Amino acid sequence: MMSDVAEYPAVTDAVRTVRSPAPAARKFSSLVTDSLRSRHARRAGSILVKNRVEADTGGSRVGRPFQRFALACATFALANCIVAAPKEHADKSSGAVRAAAQTVAIVVITLDGVRWQEVFEGVDAKLAAAHDLAPEQVVPARRLLPNLYAIIDGHGAALGAPGYGAPISASGPNFLSLPGYAELFSGRTVTGCDDNQCRGISAHTIIEELSAGTHADAGEVAAVTSWPEIAKVTSYAGADAAVSSGRHGGSHREAFARDAEGARLLALAENAPHGLGDPDFRADSLTADIAIHHLKAHAPRFLFLGLGEPDEFAHMNDYGGYLAALRRADARLGELDAELQRLAQRGTRTALFVTADHGRADGFVNHGGAYPESARVWLVAAGSAFQGRGFVAAPSGRRLADIAPTVREIAHLKRDSDRAAGVPLMELLGTSTL
Ligand SMILES: [Zn+2]
Ligand SMILES: [Zn+2]
Repeated sequence: MMSDVAEYPAVTDAVRTVRSPAPAARKFSSLVTDSLRSRHARRAGSILVKNRVEADTGGSRVGRPFQRFALACATFALANCIVAAPKEHADKSSGAVRAAAQTVAIVVITLDGVRWQEVFEGVDAKLAAAHDLAPEQVVPARRLLPNLYAIIDGHGAALGAPGYGAPISASGPNFLSLPGYAELFSGRTVTGCDDNQCRGISAHTIIEELSAGTHADAGEVAAVTSWPEIAKVTSYAGADAAVSSGRHGGSHREAFARDAEGARLLALAENAPHGLGDPDFRADSLTADIAIHHLKAHAPRFLFLGLGEPDEFAHMNDYGGYLAALRRADARLGELDAELQRLAQRGTRTALFVTADHGRADGFVNHGGAYPESARVWLVAAGSAFQGRGFVAAPSGRRLADIAPTVREIAHLKRDSDRAAGVPLMELLGTSTL
């Protein structure tokens, strides 16, 4: 992210030609293992009053299934859909229509700059020694990331593990943060955002599409990030989404203060002292607090959580700090997964994606176009929308751009036919969702 000049390298034509490096095969014994424009300049106080009233009447909760059904109708363009009530359709129509009307909860989490090496092989013994870490800190991946592995081993899937099919990579050519997030949100390999100084994105995003027709102040589509710059690529034309980026950024951020606890957490982060990296960077623990509370209290249909501390520590060449940030992120991942499992038990169609915006250079500290090996990332997915379990092999090279098309399938949005669009990850979805 912004703490290191390596995020802003001059890009040569030579590195621009690098598309999908094939990382060297490895042994895997451990593996068997607004900038967005605010269109509603309301104050948090009025929002709180409004939502207290809604909470008392229950109006907002009752109305939501119908709003969602209307949105599903619009995106599917089904004949007669608009005049029919959801129950009527569910009783007599196809499974696809029933699924379209079903409530969804999709959560995407990114751990900025976290390498596939730690995710799949655990703590790097050489790096640990070079950084004077105690030998007992050198642990396999399952001990480093117990919650992530509870998902993979129990009810989810990992894609891109060495020895299991083709890798998943950022498309680059600059393997930097904003281009990675732009690819993730748009589902395109070409996004108009080539470095961290890009001014925005040239393609629509799933955040825009999923939030169309919703009330941003309700936070039904939400993004919460530690690094403030991510807000720039959440949408092309503005979204009806609630974004809280960094300690003070993001449009419709008041949506996170709909209840007293949400308001407290938002204010706590606003008033926190400057920590890592960018001046407005928000500590991951506070970012995660806001996101987890929002998921539990308001069950948004889409939530993005962008954690940034691992990359900050890596740029400081602090391997111990990087590992500690990774462990903290894993704990929060467990909380989010537990909430999604609870929602799934209630009939919500759930999907959890955990990934990274880019990998790292072999030397650990840097990443970018000058380090083609930093293209490689990883993906863990779980939830009732998926059939994939354990270590899943991709039939061909996958990209960050394939995640948004997978979200589109799950949310029954129209497929993106652009030539730069990714493809749904059918090895995770199985066939029953189509
Ligand atoms: Zn970085
Ligand atoms: Zn990054």
